[in-house]
Amino acid sequence: MTSYFCELAVIGDPARGDVAGSVLLEVEEDRLVKVTPGSDRPNGAVLLPGVTLPGLANVHSHAFHRALRGRSQSGPGDFWTWREQMYAVAARLDPESYFALARALFAEMALSGVTAVGEFHYLHHEPGGRRYDDPNAMGIALIAAAADAGIRITLLDTCYLKGGFDRELEGVQRRFGDGNVDAWAERAEALRGGPLARIGAAVHSVRAVDPPSIGPVAAWAHDHEVPLHVHLSEQRAENEGCLEAFRRTPTRLLGDEGALGPRTTAVHATHLELQDVQLLGSERTVICMCPTTERDLADGVGPARALANAGSPLCVGSDSHAVVDLFEEARSIELDERLVRHRRGIHPPEKLLEAATLAGHRALGWPEAGCLAPGTLADFVTVTLNSSRLAGTRPDAVVASLVFAATGADVTDVVVGGRRVVTAGRHQLIEDPARAMNDVLTSLDDRRAGK
Ligand SMILES: [Zn+2]
Repeated sequence: MTSYFCELAVIGDPARGDVAGSVLLEVEEDRLVKVTPGSDRPNGAVLLPGVTLPGLANVHSHAFHRALRGRSQSGPGDFWTWREQMYAVAARLDPESYFALARALFAEMALSGVTAVGEFHYLHHEPGGRRYDDPNAMGIALIAAAADAGIRITLLDTCYLKGGFDRELEGVQRRFGDGNVDAWAERAEALRGGPLARIGAAVHSVRAVDPPSIGPVAAWAHDHEVPLHVHLSEQRAENEGCLEAFRRTPTRLLGDEGALGPRTTAVHATHLELQDVQLLGSERTVICMCPTTERDLADGVGPARALANAGSPLCVGSDSHAVVDLFEEARSIELDERLVRHRRGIHPPEKLLEAATLAGHRALGWPEAGCLAPGTLADFVTVTLNSSRLAGTRPDAVVASLVFAATGADVTDVVVGGRRVVTAGRHQLIEDPARAMNDVLTSLDDRRAGK
């Protein structure tokens, strides 16, 4: 038994925003067994000054996009020109370098309070499309990287079959494809989770998976009782192509193929018709917004309030990792919508915190995490209130301060499954995550330069 004494903690359902003082968290193995507010500090309890909250869930990640940070953000273009840069990185990775990159990225996530990541994984095969000796070598590298960094991963193994509505895979896209949905399912079937790893499924998008292949992926997720994720309407061009090819919006198409529902997380959901919003909400499909990426790629602002009103839970992800900061993602749901609607107070801060914690964990298939309550997984994060950013936080406005002012850099301590992963701002399992990131990015840059 280990116990932690929290100066302040967000306890129970984060959507209620209940903040208590002098909270004793008692941990046995990987679970919280007791949560006691107003406690005395027992001898031996680890003191956590500041505010402790449930671990943050980063619901949408493509680890290899981290190699584009600072390399793709200036200059003209749009999503499609950025995609060419992204493909150039994808072309250079192998299981060894992907492991090194993901390990450094997942350590960066841990340092900023992320305790679970949803890795939307489609970089499956060798350049040209040949299978590795183990066809899951790349996915296994990602799972190992998360284990090294001490965070949970849901590997969302992604079906990717087409280069567009009327195009075959070409160039680097051949690395993404299994040929057909049965071959995808056979490969995904061989993946194994672990104490910190679970397997889920993904349809890359209606661009990349033809309608007859969408249903079998959804059925696979249903049969295995695992999450199903899908990119949805990030770009208007996807909607236009889908309407032209199938006379339906991407949302309607996914609905017709049985791919919506509470097990499904639709990522982005930026450009939707009113009927799409109603359909997603009525099916209780989860929406993952990735505002810092959607900004970076000039995508647009999705109708988060309308989706929530219609019945869709919201969660967040850092997607391309232009920024890894779940506080920034959560507040951006509100702040970006303010810019569109010209008014404030659209999403209560407690609901934004729920998006980054409990709702995110549910979307990743870890419903037993994301809430500080007895019986849940002992995954929690402490934010100092001594930084200049958070100095003067009022006791009656802790959640609002966290959501609107905290950054990942204010995270001091992270516990995942009862294990101390970050202590006093230092990663406990990886000696120097920044150096590890620098080393792998330098070697990838060299590889591009042909050194
Ligand atoms: Zn994505």
